[in-house]
Amino acid sequence: MDEHILITNIQRFSLHDGPGIRTTVFCKGCSLRCPWCANPENLEPRSEDYVKDGVPGTYGRYISCEELLQEVMKDEMFYRQCDQGESLDALPGGVTWSGGEPLLQADRLKPLFRRLKDAGVHQCVETCLFVRADKLELAMEYIDLFYVDIKILDEARCREVLRGDLRRYLANVEALFAAKKPVVFRVPVIGGFTDSGENRQAVIALIKQYSPIKVELIMEHNLGRSKYLSLGKTPLDLHTVTDEFMEQYKKAMIKSAGAIAVVCKI
Ligand code: SF4
Repeated sequence: MDEHILITNIQRFSLHDGPGIRTTVFCKGCSLRCPWCANPENLEPRSEDYVKDGVPGTYGRYISCEELLQEVMKDEMFYRQCDQGESLDALPGGVTWSGGEPLLQADRLKPLFRRLKDAGVHQCVETCLFVRADKLELAMEYIDLFYVDIKILDEARCREVLRGDLRRYLANVEALFAAKKPVVFRVPVIGGFTDSGENRQAVIALIKQYSPIKVELIMEHNLGRSKYLSLGKTPLDLHTVTDEFMEQYKKAMIKSAGAIAVVCKI
């Protein structure tokens, strides 16, 4: 396992990145450029210097698979099934691969995926799914649960706003379901970008094809302002949607798509 992975952070005791208590690894490099991205330090596939409150630092470091394995296995006690009362959370936790887009490094992560699977550790991936089919195929061999974003479903706008190829995304969604992989959809609801009536209808229509399925409607507040500023970038001033809007969207998702929808605030 002498491959090296480019990461920005290993977050322990995560409660929102999958079942149970998770250890989340943030991989650096993303295939999209969502204007609302809350993790601007995870976009470029290289380390980047920054200055925060006058203090310089670097986002991103290479870590060997062996070292990363040792790091995530420090939390092994959370990856085992616990009896009620023995733990704060009865569900076994596991490792979540996040980013950026973790599947961009799927080839390098493969030995780790395999070692964790062999050790019986549950693995999730948080993915935008704008990746080459072979990278997804590789991950499907090892990953237990996929959190898949649904953002903009108009081909031209997807290319213009996100810099992504919607056909590739849709083909990957199909591939995941054809392989019967467990999926939770995540829908960021961003004023002026993903909240139009047209886009909501398209999202509902897509989800309907795969329902009943769990859907998290994400209301984003934290835009990582300080991280944008530390990189010398200007954070976007977003128009935040209202709680009522989110409730209406959730109801439509349940009624029209047959989804198990919840609203999540970040
Ligand atoms: S896919 Fe996620 S990490 Fe990548 S740019 Fe969009 S919001 Fe940011």
